[in-house]
Amino acid sequence: MKDDFSIKGEVIAALEGIDDPASEGLNVVDSHMVEQVEVDKGVVDIVLVMEADRDRKERFAIEDAVYDSVEAIGGVSDVKVKTMTPKALEREARGESPTPRAKPAAPSGPQGGAGAAGQQQATMPASAPIEGVGRVIAVASGKGGVGKSTVAVNLALALQKLDYRVGLLDIDIYGPSLPTLLGVDERPAVSNRRILPIEASGLRLMSLGFLMEDDSPVIWRGPIVTGIIRQFLRDVDWSGIDYLIIDMPPGTGDAQLAMAQTIPVDGALVVTTPSDLALIDAARGLQMFKTLNVDVKGIVTNMSRFIVPSSGEEFLIFGDPKEVEKEAKRLEVPILGEIPLDTQVRRGGDEGKPVVLADPESPVSQAFIDLAESLVETTPLVEEGAEEEGKKGLFSFLKK
Ligand code: ADP
Repeated sequence: MKDDFSIKGEVIAALEGIDDPASEGLNVVDSHMVEQVEVDKGVVDIVLVMEADRDRKERFAIEDAVYDSVEAIGGVSDVKVKTMTPKALEREARGESPTPRAKPAAPSGPQGGAGAAGQQQATMPASAPIEGVGRVIAVASGKGGVGKSTVAVNLALALQKLDYRVGLLDIDIYGPSLPTLLGVDERPAVSNRRILPIEASGLRLMSLGFLMEDDSPVIWRGPIVTGIIRQFLRDVDWSGIDYLIIDMPPGTGDAQLAMAQTIPVDGALVVTTPSDLALIDAARGLQMFKTLNVDVKGIVTNMSRFIVPSSGEEFLIFGDPKEVEKEAKRLEVPILGEIPLDTQVRRGGDEGKPVVLADPESPVSQAFIDLAESLVETTPLVEEGAEEEGKKGLFSFLKK
């Protein structure tokens, strides 16, 4: 049985094969005609948006093409297509129309969950690498609050300490935290129609947080999430970067799909605490990356233990890291790093000065540097056997 998440990937890929005759050269996804795609137990619910004055024949032809291409996907049991005008959509969003609507496009996980191994792979459209970027690494987690963003930021800084040029892209659309974690409050500039990443602490940064007016949480529908992420990957000038670290939203949803469909991802790290619940969700995350054909390089156990600075005594706060080891063995992925619980880490995040910057010699910073070294080992810039040794960046000639 194919899971809904895989089906959704294939539906979006199929819709990308349908041209919108009114927008020259664009398919119906890129022309923003697809407002919503939901899959529930094989039933696909699609909402299209077209102007009221759209030629009827053209509209019917598009709807037919959508039905035909989606019905042909294995695992799809039914297809529902609803076409709305932008005004009707607005009214509905304001709650003025009681038209029944599918669930909101919040992250939807693979139905099979952790145990659903061996499902069919989603058919992904060909994705093109980001120009000028050596390696793309996604930092993910099954659930929020396990320290994913903290790990992403400190890992990026640790890679930089190892002499690599590093970019950090925060696509945690539900709570972009990069601006706070690095204490940056700037708006990105646009040059030659490309968005320029913000440079801070030697990193190149982009986050939705730099573009939002305030901190109010935003709920975006699936196709909008897809559009934003594509733009962050395609329209931001990332050239000259060795490692691009992507801070993903937690869970398994539209953002993960959009990323995997837009660019080839060289590897993913799944951050978890040793708690049972976080571990179950981490396993689900691993399964999702398998579905997306992304190589999981390893698990990072965060807040693994608390070491009392004065006595060196150890406490296990979020469960036993041995449980993570067991789970990693079962899932056949290595543990790439173990980060202790350290109040310096939290303080660094609150003050906009991550611990690897604030106290590079501390044991917890060393744990992040060890993690960076392990990552480079699993994902070197230069493939083994290539002429140059892996240590120096592909773009080392650009280094200052
Ligand atoms: P997520 O991105 O998974 O939602 P965050 O990175 O925002 O998680 O971290 C959640 C909270 O945990 C933050 O307050 C952060 O400072 C704290 N935290 C993360 N890792 C550690 C650590 N190793 N030691 C102490 N506090 C940590």
